[in-house]
Amino acid sequence: MPHFEVIILGTGDAFSEERTPTALLLVYGGFSLAVDCPDSYRKVLRETATKADRALSLEGVDHLLLTHVHGDHMNGIESVAFYKHLVERKRLTLVASSEVRSVIWEQRLRASMGTLWDGEVLREKRFEDYFDFRPLSWSDSTTVGPFRIRARPTRHHVPTSALLVEAGGRVLGYSSDAAFDAELLDFLAPADLILHETNLGPAHSPLSALEALPEGIRERMVLVHYPDGLAESGTSIRLAHQGDVLRP
Ligand SMILES: [Zn+2]
Repeated sequence: MPHFEVIILGTGDAFSEERTPTALLLVYGGFSLAVDCPDSYRKVLRETATKADRALSLEGVDHLLLTHVHGDHMNGIESVAFYKHLVERKRLTLVASSEVRSVIWEQRLRASMGTLWDGEVLREKRFEDYFDFRPLSWSDSTTVGPFRIRARPTRHHVPTSALLVEAGGRVLGYSSDAAFDAELLDFLAPADLILHETNLGPAHSPLSALEALPEGIRERMVLVHYPDGLAESGTSIRLAHQGDVLRP
């Protein structure tokens, strides 16, 4: 029986000087699902492979779930999709909410990906030339390979999906970016492992609120998306680090 593994690619935020923005690679039985996509993605995979002592490469990542359109969570998608299109000659399977789909091409990617020079003429390119889109449902579970995913909107600046991901009978909960929300914690509570964000500002979860949660939840919680300067000595909750391989 394979194990559900969560490889931590980054733990930072948009302003981190020290760390890659928060991103995950979910692995089960040889299938990989990327969750969010920071810039310089191939470099991030290489760095993580070294730290985790795993063979990781972009050729092994054909499925990407985007939780929301903030740059620290999606700036790498242009290069990843170009690599799939130009080098591997395939499409990237993109899993995201209909809210993300409604803006990601027209308002984010079309300016840089909407035309390609073929050596003779500029060819117009469409979203469908690069991506095989799978909608992430808010009401039903969404199946991607071996993963069964439930999504819930968080309180954030833009539409954002928190996730419950099940594979092999084990469940990962991921807050993505979220203001502190007791109902979101209720959604995440059934998970065997909860990756929760913490950061500054009204659209993020203060560390003090997470530290005040019951021990039964805190002991299954690992922090991601934390600001530079937070170290193990600064919190009673475990911190994730790039290269960690966690098993829900
Ligand atoms: Zn965000």
